Amino acid sequence: MTVLLAALARQSPEWSGPVFNIHAHLGRAEWAESLPHAEQVAKRCEIPLVVVRNEKGDLVDRVEGRLASLAGTGINPFMSAKQRFCTSEYKSGPINKYLRRFGLVISAIGIRREESKRRREKPAFQINQQLTSRRLRGLTVEEALRVRKPEQRLALIWHPIIDFSLDDVWEVCGTSKTEIAIRRALYREGKHAEALAGATVHPAYIRGAKRVSCALCILADLQTLIVGARHNSELLGRYQEVERRSGKTFQPGRALITLDLSEPKAQPTLY
Ligand code: SF4
Repeated sequence: MTVLLAALARQSPEWSGPVFNIHAHLGRAEWAESLPHAEQVAKRCEIPLVVVRNEKGDLVDRVEGRLASLAGTGINPFMSAKQRFCTSEYKSGPINKYLRRFGLVISAIGIRREESKRRREKPAFQINQQLTSRRLRGLTVEEALRVRKPEQRLALIWHPIIDFSLDDVWEVCGTSKTEIAIRRALYREGKHAEALAGATVHPAYIRGAKRVSCALCILADLQTLIVGARHNSELLGRYQEVERRSGKTFQPGRALITLDLSEPKAQPTLY
């Protein structure tokens, strides 16, 4: 999010509509620092922050609710790569609900081609099929812009940093690989305040996470999962309890109850 906002703040698009940063808050499933960090970045980039939530409760409520309602069925109460209710009900759902008040929407999303095979194929612009009026859905972006009537909603997804390298990301965030490595080393030596002082990136990166979203993510790599587990003990305890009572694991083949939380022998990697 930091890099996306900073990149947007540097651009001067021909856009006269409102510009804002929208953060879908997942409650206790997130790092405690995520919302304050989002507020800080929004302030620094002078782009107002809008926070949306699923009004029925947070993601932890949902997982614990599934634990109760699915008892005895053998179905895993956790979200999974195929059952991403965490994203649909807690991120895209509340965000789309908010965006429905606008007729023309451009949502900038901070994904990069380097991150995965799937992301490599993404175009710079595409139509948001969920938000766009039915009649415009099958069209190309150019066609939809040309034929759109005022009463029709057109929502475009824009990937402004799709071709950024990791070095570009750190540079736009006002840091570098070297600075992050130095801060991480300080953190590992126990000099936490010194490691975090003045950092422009989310503290989870300094603690060793490769990506930052939910504090414990079903898709996270092992290093990021361990960092999240070490620093979010209440969430860890709740999800571990769900594992104990359901007999299911948080990630396929990887249980939180057996996760080794000791310090890694090697220096954690940046990505
Ligand atoms: S970060 Fe992971 S757990 Fe959280 S919403 Fe995204 S996929 Fe789901």
